[in-house]
Amino acid sequence: MERIEKRNCPICDHYNNEILFSQEFVDIKEVTFLRGYEVVVCNNCGFLYADDIPGQKEFDLYYKNCSKYEVKADELTDSQISRFQASLNFIEECINNEEINFEEFRIVDIGCATGDFLRFLKGKGYQDLNGIDPSPLCVKLMKDNHINAKQATINELEEHEKYDFIRLNAVLEHVVDLNYSITQLKKILNKGGYLYLSVPNVQGFKELVNCPFQEFSVEHINYFSKNSLSNLMRKHGFTLIEYQINHNKLYSELETIFRYDDDVTKNNEKIVDDQEAIESIKEYIVRNYRLEREVNEKIKSRIQEQEPIIVWGVGTHTLRQLAKGQLRKCNIKLFVDSNLHYQNKQYNGIPIISPEQLYEYNYKILISSYYGQDSIVDYINKVLKLNNEIVTLYNVEN
Ligand SMILES: [Zn+2]
Repeated sequence: MERIEKRNCPICDHYNNEILFSQEFVDIKEVTFLRGYEVVVCNNCGFLYADDIPGQKEFDLYYKNCSKYEVKADELTDSQISRFQASLNFIEECINNEEINFEEFRIVDIGCATGDFLRFLKGKGYQDLNGIDPSPLCVKLMKDNHINAKQATINELEEHEKYDFIRLNAVLEHVVDLNYSITQLKKILNKGGYLYLSVPNVQGFKELVNCPFQEFSVEHINYFSKNSLSNLMRKHGFTLIEYQINHNKLYSELETIFRYDDDVTKNNEKIVDDQEAIESIKEYIVRNYRLEREVNEKIKSRIQEQEPIIVWGVGTHTLRQLAKGQLRKCNIKLFVDSNLHYQNKQYNGIPIISPEQLYEYNYKILISSYYGQDSIVDYINKVLKLNNEIVTLYNVEN
């Protein structure tokens, strides 16, 4: 496997960085190809990113074959609609004036999974809508919904297709070679066109409530703030037009609109300091070490040595627990996950089964998730109607 042991700072190309945290995962084939990484801060510009990671090709293969985003949604949910409407309001306020109307733009959504935002715009009467995603199944689902869709990664875009507006929602935090990908975007964006980027907002990390180190997930390898994202984009001739932050307990999102002015005189503008983001991530790390100790204690007190258990969920939470936490000392008989890609795989000889296969087993079930915990418990009790004893690890705040 190609591995980038030393990743120069994607923003300033500086070589020296300081390690803030070492993330570790066990290796469940098909669930992740990442065995972990170092969360580092650039000594020069303060950008926060993951170092010692596989190359882009490994990521591309993973998103092509193991997409978690292939969930078919027949109807947009109320919460999706209100989120999309808020995002559309933000975009229109940034772009629309007497001469420019966003509705007339040629729009492309890259890494758009099943194209929910495009379907939302279509419902509003928008015409020129295009979706691009690496997963063949996602592309098929978009086409089923009459969205113009193409299968490609961000690095496989074709130059002859030009757009007025590119949307990248929750994409850049997954990209290894940011500079190459942004160069690709410039090939398909008309000069004066707009780029919408939304990424997790590292400045909000310190206030998030989730399972330990969830922000250092099996997919996220760049941790942006408004300043670092602007630093990166300015280098490529983009001007920040506007930004907004959507923050709740579970996630903090940074939405931005950049215009492609291709103004090279701005390339050498001074990089903006990112001290607040660094403080936020440091505080997040300290608090999550504490949280992880509490979770380990809880597992220790609720599950006896050698007691056979079932673990529900094989995401970031489980992968880290198996590498570093109390869970690695437990007598796990089975894993359960509703993701089809994970089922029929195994870890250390322990099979991963579907929820519907649980009927045959009476072991205690440990819910290895924060976000999904309460709905999983409901599902076990009300849908599967199982009587297994359930162990939860969190008091989920709503
Ligand atoms: Zn840097």
